[in-house]
This record gives sequence, structure tokens and C-alpha cells, in this order.
Amino acid sequence: MWQRLLSVPMLVYAALAGSAARGDAPQERERMVDDQIAARGVRDARVLAAMRRVPRHEFVPQEARDAAYRDHPLPIGHGQTISQPYIVAVMSELARVEPGDRVLEVGTGSGYQAAVLAELGAEVYSIELVPELAARAAATLERLGYSAVHARAGDGYRGWPERAPFRVIVVTAAPPTVPPRLLDQLAVGGRLVIPVGDALQELQVHTRGEDGVTVESIFPVRFVPMLRGSDADPVPEAPDPQ
Ligand code: SAH
Repeated sequence: MWQRLLSVPMLVYAALAGSAARGDAPQERERMVDDQIAARGVRDARVLAAMRRVPRHEFVPQEARDAAYRDHPLPIGHGQTISQPYIVAVMSELARVEPGDRVLEVGTGSGYQAAVLAELGAEVYSIELVPELAARAAATLERLGYSAVHARAGDGYRGWPERAPFRVIVVTAAPPTVPPRLLDQLAVGGRLVIPVGDALQELQVHTRGEDGVTVESIFPVRFVPMLRGSDADPVPEAPDPQ
């Protein structure tokens, strides 16, 4: 009998220690959504549910897992970052993704935003400039079963013309001005969510109507810059040869 009494707290301890070591306590994710996201005004229930489901700690480097659910961006290598959870939620809400929508993401990074978009029912096409990050994100997404995300290495200034047009385009690195190719690949009725600017950036939503594009400014943001592909691989101005 004493053995059984002893074993209960030991089991509890083992469970807590294991879960803390992996940084995957579901209550941390709940708290992240309640305190950082819902409390700041994100109301879309589908977005909140998606943020509760995606295991953010799986998308950050091993040594940063303890910080995975904190209220800030985290380094993911190659000078890049996984965005702050609140920003991912706001962009996902602004995108107004419907199940079955074809969505382009520019700047795969860790793959986390792509996973959130997939949880919203999107078929996601995601492009990442740094090949090592693209490969790592693709492996993470595959391991977690996100088969609706198609990730590839490449220059997001080109978009993904073979899969255009897109109902939604989400850009998670900031170009100085809106890349024309991305606007070209936006479906009528589609929405482009993008940070724009250099030192001073703002989050914008561009909506394509029948008669042109309207722009809405959301709030100031700070993203990593959207970089140009190498000069050896210039973006052609003519129709894409790919
Ligand atoms: N969405 C990511 C955050 C990405 S940070 C996440 O959820 O983790 C921005 C990413 O954009 C970086 O990984 C950076 O390498 C990438 N990037 C920068 N310029 C790019 C370009 N021209 N095309 C595609 N990706 C680019």
C-alpha cells in the first residue's frame, strides 16, 4: 500500500517534468491565447481555436522551447525570427481565410504561420528565401501532419505564378513597397496582408475588387526586411518563364 501512495506523486512529478522539458504544456498555449491575443481584441473564434491547436513549441529551436509561448518573436537561425503570437493572430484574422481557400504565404520561416493558416482550412503555398529554413520548415510541417502546406525555397517577389490566383496572400517580411507580382496574383475579392516600409513599417490589407485595389492601414509593425533574391537570379519583368 505505501508503495502505491508513493507512486502517485512520483507519477505526477514525472508528467510535469516531462511536459515542462518539452515546453508543450497545453495550458501555456491556452494562456497565450487568452492573455496575449483575445485580451488584445482578436475576436475571430476560428483564429483563436487555430492558435490553441498549433504546437508553437515544435516550430522553435530546441534551446528556445521554454520561451515558445511568450509574448515576443524568437530567433530561428539565419538572422530570422518566428513572429510574436499576437501578430500571427492579427494577420490570420485580417486574412479572413475560408476553408478551401488557396493561400500564398511569403516568408515561411519556421512554418508556424503556415500551420495556423492550414488549421483555418486553407491550402497553403509558402515560399522561403533561405533554403535551410525552407527545408527545416517543410520537415516540421510534414512531421506534424500539415499536408495542406506546400513549401518551397525561392524568392517571394515572384510569388507562385503556377498556383495563382490566390484568395489570400500573407507576407511575413517587409518589402519597401508592395511587390507588383503579388498584387497580380491576387484573385478578385482576394486580400493581401502585408507589412510595408523600411525603418517605419505599417501593416496593410490590399483588397482586389472588380474595379481595382483598395488599401487599408492597420497599425505600425516591425518585421524583418523582405530581401531580394541573388543578382544571378533576377526577377524578370516579362511574364514569368517558370
Ligand atoms: N512566417 C514566419 C516568420 C518569418 S520571418 C513564421 O511563422 O515563422 C520572415 C521570413 O521571410 C524569414 O524567414 C526570411 O528568410 C524570409 N524572407 C525574406 N525575404 C524573402 C523573400 N524575398 N522571399 C521569401 N522569403 C523571404
